Amino acid sequence: MAVPKHKVSTSKRNMRRAHDALKVSAIEECPSCGELKRPHHVCASCGQYNEREVISAGDAA
Ligand SMILES: [Zn+2]
Repeated sequence: MAVPKHKVSTSKRNMRRAHDALKVSAIEECPSCGELKRPHHVCASCGQYNEREVISAGDAA
């Protein structure tokens, strides 16, 4: 197994971790019901897409 030859300095360790931040997941508002939904996905609460297509009934199964 490979073993590190030198201690990683505080600066190098922090430079590596500079890219570790989590990105904010994409969320947009549903145009028909205003609920937050993922882009390019059917709205989970009203079941609409492109402001028209009712693909699935949202509430009550
Ligand atoms: Zn909706």
